[in-house]
Amino acid sequence: MKNKIETILSEVKQKIANIKEKNELFHLHTEFLGKNGKISTLLKDLKNLSADERPKIGEILNKCRNEVENLIKLKTEEIDNRILQEKLDNEKIDVTIPVKPYKTGTAHPISVVQRDLMKFFESRGFEIKYGNDVETDYYCFEALNVPKDHPARDAQDSFYIDPETVLRTHTSATQIRTMEQQKPPIKMVSTGMVYRIDDIDGTHSPIFNQLEVLVVDENVTMCDLKGMLEDVLKFLLGEHTQIKLRPSYFPFTEPSAEVDVTCPKCAGKGCSLCKNTGFIEMLGCGMVHPKVLERNGIDSEKYSGYAIGFGLDRMAMGRYGIDNIREFYENDINMLKQLK
Ligand SMILES: [Zn+2]
Repeated sequence: MKNKIETILSEVKQKIANIKEKNELFHLHTEFLGKNGKISTLLKDLKNLSADERPKIGEILNKCRNEVENLIKLKTEEIDNRILQEKLDNEKIDVTIPVKPYKTGTAHPISVVQRDLMKFFESRGFEIKYGNDVETDYYCFEALNVPKDHPARDAQDSFYIDPETVLRTHTSATQIRTMEQQKPPIKMVSTGMVYRIDDIDGTHSPIFNQLEVLVVDENVTMCDLKGMLEDVLKFLLGEHTQIKLRPSYFPFTEPSAEVDVTCPKCAGKGCSLCKNTGFIEMLGCGMVHPKVLERNGIDSEKYSGYAIGFGLDRMAMGRYGIDNIREFYENDINMLKQLK
C-alpha cells in the first residue's frame, strides 16, 4: 500500500506540472480527491489493514492527501496570477488617447441675451433684481401711473388671480419696490418673465422676457439715456450699430421714445426682417414720469431718472435672425442647438 501511495503522489506531481487551465485542475482534483478518487479509495481500504499497520499507513496517506491538496492550491494561485498578469499586459490604459467629446447642452438664446445684458450693466455698477412673478395690482399698474380706468390697461390687462393680484405684465413692478425701499442714487436692472393676454402668433406670446433699466439721480437727462443706449446696443449688436429715437407714449415715462437700431440681419442694407428700411424697432425708453417719482417718495424737483425696457425675445430674434417667436418656446433641441 505504501508503494501505491508513492505512485499516486508521483503521478499527481507529474500531471500537475503540465496543467495550464483551471478546468484541468478540477478534473485532477476529482481523479484523486473526489468521492471515488484514487486517494479516497485508499482511505476506504485502510479498514482492511491490520491494527498494527493501519495507523502508520493512515499517517502516510493523510500526508499524501495534504500534499496533493497543497499542490492543487499552489497551482490554482499560479494560474490566477498568470491570468491577472495577462490582463494587465493586454489591457493597458493609454492616457494619451484623446477623450471623446461630451455632449453638452447650450444656453437658451433668450438666456444668452439676458446674461450678456446683465454682464454689461453689472460692469457699470447696476444692481440686478428678479422680483416677483405674482404681483399686486398696485405695483403692476397703480404705482406706474396706470389707474384702473386708464386706457393703457386694455393692451396690458393680464392674468388676474384675484381682483388685486396679477401675473406681472412687466418687470417695472420691481423698480417701484426698489424706489420705495431705496433713496437715490438708484441704478438697477429688473429682469424675468412677464405675462400678458395675447394670442400666440409669429411675434406675440402670452409669456415673454423683459429686462428693464432704471437710473434715478440728480441731473439725469435725456443725454445720459441716449449715451447709455448707444453703449449697450453697440456692445450687444456690434460697433457699426446706429440708433434712432422716435417719440412715443408710455404712462410711466415723459418724454417717451421707441428706439430703432441698424438691422442686425442686413447691417442696414435692407432685407425682409427690416422691411427694407435698414432699421428695426428694438426697445422702449424714456425719462421717468415725475408723478411716478413723487408717488414713491422721491422729490421730482431734485431728482430725475430714465428707464429702458428691453424685450429679450425680440432682441434674441434680431440677434439670431429668427422671425417666429414660437421657435423659442417649442423646445426643439435641434433648432436651439444651432443658436449658440
Ligand atoms: Zn434688414
